[in-house]
Amino acid sequence: MKAIRTFTVRPVLAESLAPLDRLASNWRWSWSRATHALFASMDPALWGEIGANPARMLGALGQERLDELARDDEFVARVREEDERLTAYLDGDRWFQQLEGDKPVHIAYFSPEFGVDGSLPQYSGGLGILAGDHLKSASDLGVPLTGVGLFYRAGYFRQSIGDDGWQRESYPLLDPYGLGLTLLRNREGAPVEIALDLPGDRRLHARVWVADIGRIPLLLLDSETPSNTDEMRRVTDRLYGGGGEHRLLQELLLGVGGVRAVRAWSELNGRPTPDVYHTNEGHAGFQGLERMSELITNNGLSFDEALAQVRAGTVFTTHTPVPAGIDRFPRDLIADFLSSGLFQGLDAGRAISLGLETWEGGDQGVFNMAVLGLHLGQHANGVSVLHGEVSRGMFGMLWPGVDTDEVPITSITNGVHAPTWVHPALKAVSERAWGDAHTDTHDWTDRAVVTDAELWGVRQQMKGELVAEARRRVAASVSNGHTPSWVEDLLDPEVLTIGFARRVPTYKRLTLLLRDPERLTRLLTDPERPVQIVIGGKSHPADDSGKILIQQLVRFSRDPKVRGRIVFLPDYDITLAKDLYPGCDVWLNNPLRPLEACGTSGMKAALNGALNLSILDGWWDEWYDGENGWAIPTADTASNDEERDDAEAAALYDLIEHQLVPRFYEREGGIPLRWLEMVRHTMTELGRKATSDRMVRDYVQRLYVPAAAHDVALRANEFFEARTVAAFVSRVREAWGRVSIASVDSSGIPAQAQAGDTLEVRADVRLDGLSPDDVAVELLYGATNEDDALARDHSVYRLSPGASAADGATVFSGTLPLGVTGTFGYTVRVRPAHPQLVSPVELGLVTYAS
Ligand SMILES: *Cc1c(COP(=O)(O)O)cnc(C)c1O
Repeated sequence: MKAIRTFTVRPVLAESLAPLDRLASNWRWSWSRATHALFASMDPALWGEIGANPARMLGALGQERLDELARDDEFVARVREEDERLTAYLDGDRWFQQLEGDKPVHIAYFSPEFGVDGSLPQYSGGLGILAGDHLKSASDLGVPLTGVGLFYRAGYFRQSIGDDGWQRESYPLLDPYGLGLTLLRNREGAPVEIALDLPGDRRLHARVWVADIGRIPLLLLDSETPSNTDEMRRVTDRLYGGGGEHRLLQELLLGVGGVRAVRAWSELNGRPTPDVYHTNEGHAGFQGLERMSELITNNGLSFDEALAQVRAGTVFTTHTPVPAGIDRFPRDLIADFLSSGLFQGLDAGRAISLGLETWEGGDQGVFNMAVLGLHLGQHANGVSVLHGEVSRGMFGMLWPGVDTDEVPITSITNGVHAPTWVHPALKAVSERAWGDAHTDTHDWTDRAVVTDAELWGVRQQMKGELVAEARRRVAASVSNGHTPSWVEDLLDPEVLTIGFARRVPTYKRLTLLLRDPERLTRLLTDPERPVQIVIGGKSHPADDSGKILIQQLVRFSRDPKVRGRIVFLPDYDITLAKDLYPGCDVWLNNPLRPLEACGTSGMKAALNGALNLSILDGWWDEWYDGENGWAIPTADTASNDEERDDAEAAALYDLIEHQLVPRFYEREGGIPLRWLEMVRHTMTELGRKATSDRMVRDYVQRLYVPAAAHDVALRANEFFEARTVAAFVSRVREAWGRVSIASVDSSGIPAQAQAGDTLEVRADVRLDGLSPDDVAVELLYGATNEDDALARDHSVYRLSPGASAADGATVFSGTLPLGVTGTFGYTVRVRPAHPQLVSPVELGLVTYAS
């Protein structure tokens, strides 16, 4: 008989072991080598069986073993020591506390998924793991941030592969108590409940779980509560489970419920309410509408004033250059929800217009969450330099008339949390060599500190562990219980090992490797210098085309000719990833450029000393330097996809055969010295750049600090500036159609200009109702190319207003020295000017001289 609900009954802990409770309920254990080892040592075999989670461990151990441990002085001393370390970690001042100047007081960070640990499967891939790493680095740096997400009862699915090679999904239910989460309770001890009014007299209730991620609370809203109808209970059943209304309800709960949850948490914990709201991708976009609704109902602001106030403190991060990856809902469905009373005081028609694809070629029937995100966030970014550029092109139509380069979307390149992703054995080397486990801040090129033998030794140890784990996993997945003998010889730690694992959307090209099966087979089975490949990846349950790719790979890998050398490991998740990255010599990534926004798996591999072999896309386009791996040339000029795949696959095989293999198998005293040089270089250089500490510092300094300053400035004195900005925006929008540059006079330009000459410029501008202070008239000048276009790094010089010209135009003028030589050009433009604009062109109003 199947139980309809399961839960964990915790044993009583002796006083000497009492700190274990606290250690188990702070997820810092997952990146602290010592705390992790402490729990695992309580019963190493059981630790693996229960899915490596301390709270589960405490529930599973049994009173007898606990009593035994309570009498073990050495164990008790370790418990005390770890408890003291946790206290020190939670209390001390960190980077953020030492930062000078005005700072945000509280950042709310929204994401539909959070990948914190393998035992908390609330993520599907890179987006979620990035969010988890963001929280962990915010914790390490002392940033006052709160994560906001949903608690999916079945998380994302677990994958197994059938005998036919087809992906099977299962959805084991999670018990939040048993995992180390706590329920947010009010002062009377009752669970806090959030409620959303929906159309059709329905109400969606949710409770709030708190996961402590070091110093950072992560609030997870859960619709599994007795107050809900059965229909409403299913809202948070699965991550990315359904479409249509199911998905919309999840996003409403995340956005609207999330704002309410973070307010409740702040109030109960005596913390200020957030001044910065950061949304990781568009799914949480409704948070902005909820905040507008609050400002309108509680503070009497108008729609436009509330919009100005919300935009000021909102950061929006876009993650996908694939239009199909953007969340869109039927416009009518959104209209129902917006007019249901969920957003009090908010004009439904105007709110809908914030998410419409108003440009030519846009779909008038949809509500686009990325568009909403960009309208509601005055601060926006992509996740690598290349992705920033792609995003400015992709969303440029929201700022018609603005040059693509100036579209107000910047970029901050992703990073990964080194303490989570670096293998414990490598951390141990770092501790031995430098006295701490910071593998990401040391100079690994110094062969006197870490010898070739030591470095190669630990690399080989990590590879050996992957080989053992692969054999264990394959043996466990064989359905009839008999492990075939070939599994015992699966993979070989002496062989050059290439890893490749990711979600399986088409653009990631899981099967590019199979393009020329004969050539791949020759590489795998070379008698002298073979290659082996370890692969993983999940396809979205509704995506059969992805499942077909997995099946092709699995079938290829089962061919007796190659099966010891290529293996597909099912259920790619954080746990598998932690074995995979350190165990590979090379990490492969072959997306269709430029569809990989950033990619982070290669960074995790690099921090463990693997070399990257990748298409120049995402982060690799930025940081590939010729010494840290290999770039697969992109066949941009191919006339179709087939040709492109052929060319790129051929280049990939060539690189493996002619570059990787010779270098890997070239040995001195059994060690590949030239290979290790690349490893040392990779660990040192990428170690500095590729961490989420660097990323979070960038977010704080470049986006959070300015967003907080804007929020405070607009809010002060009963929202004085918010009202001023809103009035300004509506005044210039109304007048802009009549603003024009009547004439530009540059009679001061000599016929034979020489460096050192000066240029007098005068522009007569018709402002028609606007004052000269409402605008900036700018001279843009610099070198030009063959098409007379100004170079990207052109200079901008603001002309000063003077008298009115006879025809009512205003004269703007200035003098500038000609510093550059060569072909030189300039143009004049007028745009709105206000101190609270982040980008000069963010209103999309610019008029150039013609
Ligand atoms: C890092 C990671 C990802 C994301 O990797 P990409 O390079 O962005 O594809 C996906 N899944 C898991 C389990 C990861 O650890």
